Amino acid sequence: MDIYLLIGAPGAGKGVQSAHLIEKYDLTHLSTGDIFRHEIKEETELGLEVKRIVQSGQLVSDDLTNRIVAGVLDQHRQNGTKGLILDGYPRTLTQVHALEDYLAKYDLSISKVILLNVSDEEAVRRASGRIICSNCKKSYHRVFNQPNDGKCGECGGSDFFQRPDDKEENVRDRLTLYHQQNTPVIDFYRQHAGFFEINGELPASVVSSEIDKNIL
Ligand code: AMP
Repeated sequence: MDIYLLIGAPGAGKGVQSAHLIEKYDLTHLSTGDIFRHEIKEETELGLEVKRIVQSGQLVSDDLTNRIVAGVLDQHRQNGTKGLILDGYPRTLTQVHALEDYLAKYDLSISKVILLNVSDEEAVRRASGRIICSNCKKSYHRVFNQPNDGKCGECGGSDFFQRPDDKEENVRDRLTLYHQQNTPVIDFYRQHAGFFEINGELPASVVSSEIDKNIL
């Protein structure tokens, strides 16, 4: 099983580039943020436990996050998944060590580490304007990528919402946390042979082709 890491601040374009990687390389998406949001929506025990933390933009505990990811990785190993993109994990050094231990235990390794760089101002502009189709979860932007005629291009839905953690003050808190927690994670993976970084402020299609050049 090939493992790709996608690292970037809120609004760096991880969602868009994950979609590109999934389609082009037949990879499976593992986003810890999506897992938590799903559990919250379904009001599961886990969802209720993490709701307040996730919606305010704080981090769920390492212990809980590591256990959930290990469970999902177990399923993918057993199902023979070809390759996985880890999006939003690992986010702390403790998570890095848990992941590295897991991979070593099953003789797996990370193929590529993709870092998408955007300035804080661009991250705020993108994330705080993000709206999501209530039906299929496709992302749009209130100003820069409005749904055509108010309808989702993917499913035709006409109801859009803002993630609570995308409110501007929460985005700013998430960015502060990102710089604090992710800097050591990035420093760790800079040493990895498959590490590369891309200017995430370029148009999405250019970022995708830069990723392709580095992956092939
Ligand atoms: P994201 O969609 O990646 O921005 O994640 C949304 C929220 O889910 C984060 O602000 C955290 O509250 C939680 N979360 C996602 N991934 C992690 C992680 N690796 N460690 C801790 N909390 C996480």
